[in-house]
Amino acid sequence: MTASEIRKSYWEFFRSKQHKIVPSAPMVVKNDPTLMFTNAGMNQFKDIFLGNNNPVAPRVANSQKCLRVSGKHNDLEEVGHDTYHHTMFEMLGNWSFGDYFKKEVIDWAWEYLTEVLKIDKDRLYVTVFEGNKEDNVDRDNEAADNWKKWIAEDRIINGNKKDNFWEMGDTGPCGPCSEIHIDMRPDEERAKVDGKSLVNQDHPQVIEIWNLVFIQFNRKANGELVPLPKKHVDTGMGFERLCRALQGKTSNYDTDIFQPILNKIAELTGFSYGNTEEVDIAMRVVADHVRTIAFSITDGQLPSNNKAGYVIRRILRRAVRYSYTFLNAKEAFMYQLIDALIETMGDAYPELEAQKTLVGKVIKEEEESFLRTLSTGISMLDKIIADTKSKNFNVVHGAVAFELYDTFGFPLDLTELILKENDLVVNREEFQAEMEKQKQRARNATAIETDDWQILQQDDREEFIGYDYLETEIFITRYRKI
Ligand code: ATP
Ligand code: MG
Ligand code: MG
Ligand code: MG
Repeated sequence: MTASEIRKSYWEFFRSKQHKIVPSAPMVVKNDPTLMFTNAGMNQFKDIFLGNNNPVAPRVANSQKCLRVSGKHNDLEEVGHDTYHHTMFEMLGNWSFGDYFKKEVIDWAWEYLTEVLKIDKDRLYVTVFEGNKEDNVDRDNEAADNWKKWIAEDRIINGNKKDNFWEMGDTGPCGPCSEIHIDMRPDEERAKVDGKSLVNQDHPQVIEIWNLVFIQFNRKANGELVPLPKKHVDTGMGFERLCRALQGKTSNYDTDIFQPILNKIAELTGFSYGNTEEVDIAMRVVADHVRTIAFSITDGQLPSNNKAGYVIRRILRRAVRYSYTFLNAKEAFMYQLIDALIETMGDAYPELEAQKTLVGKVIKEEEESFLRTLSTGISMLDKIIADTKSKNFNVVHGAVAFELYDTFGFPLDLTELILKENDLVVNREEFQAEMEKQKQRARNATAIETDDWQILQQDDREEFIGYDYLETEIFITRYRKI
């Protein structure tokens, strides 16, 4: 099945279960000061769950454009390096607003995956919430008992609060969830190592595909959980991951969603995919990021110097950095990928074709402007190299490399690559110390977003806290609320 057919089959299936199919909300959130980008299908239904709004129908389903590059869900560092986290991705979802609950959602998820799509049952595992003393919540036996109708008991795995309990924020609607994972390893490997032990272990072939959330509690300000009078269901399935499973691939990028884009990148840069890891990572970064940027622009968010626009600009620059460093792309080229993107996603998202000229123009200008910055950085680096050599040193101060990074967006790997050609290295400890100082400054300046929604102080609203300071691979620090 093609990606388009898969998307449609999901809608058809849930339509047959009396769901109303609703459009994707914009990926860029304009009317909520606490959230910059849509990071899950349920975002647009927040007010329904909070009881402030009535649903258009008790059962709805859709495919939602999501972006996970800031706040609680920040997958940016993974993107390109792994093959199943994207910055922008589509989340297929179905919802019940006070209508059906665990039994139906579990039965339908199973029916859709194994009967409609005919996914091999022996490759599937499910998780259920193990319970939690502190909150006085028992194991989710209701979900487990339902699963037992379909799947052997030893494929039902207990999961902890981090993976299997969803909360909107410090207070508000919340509840246990149950996730479906798929094991795409070859048979020989599956015979050797039980897939069960690999679930939720970041194994690239044993991945989560669908999360079923059962919203049954309200967390009060004192931390206590009280049952909700009306229980809801919220599900989210990674569309690209589903396509990969159905198309029998070992990477999301090998599906028809990304192949035309990768082919075009190969054509434009002269590098081919599948030979060296560095090149492959860079090609995946470009293929992923160009989608994100194009969709942001069609949703009305141009790259800029603050807030959401700045995040988009940084994503574009990340793609330029990777292609400059590893694909030898010294001139703008990403703007020429739009047609390939339209080929893969244009039918579901006609805004791409409609705004194609604008998208191409904006991307080209951004690429060119950042390439100019890069070349200024390179001239500076040339002076640094000459200076270091004239003193007969072979180590460049970390603070100098940091300044290049901080002022010119010049990443350490690029600096090191250029220095290496001149038999020089950077003092990494010093660089790291500078980076730590920078992170500390950023942390002090603002609060870190940790929830799906957070009420920001008036003073904080102007400030973007994002991955800027977490960008260099060596210095990844993740903060996740447990
Ligand atoms: P993971 O553990 O793989 O990071 P998650 O638990 O953070 O996923 P959920 O918040 O449960 O993801 O989102 C629902 C579904 O969306 C996931 O089951 C997965 O299929 C998909 N998904 C989540 N993050 C991404 C991403 N960055 N790129 C592509 N698909 C994603
Ligand atoms: Mg995640
Ligand atoms: Mg997960
Ligand atoms: Mg999940």
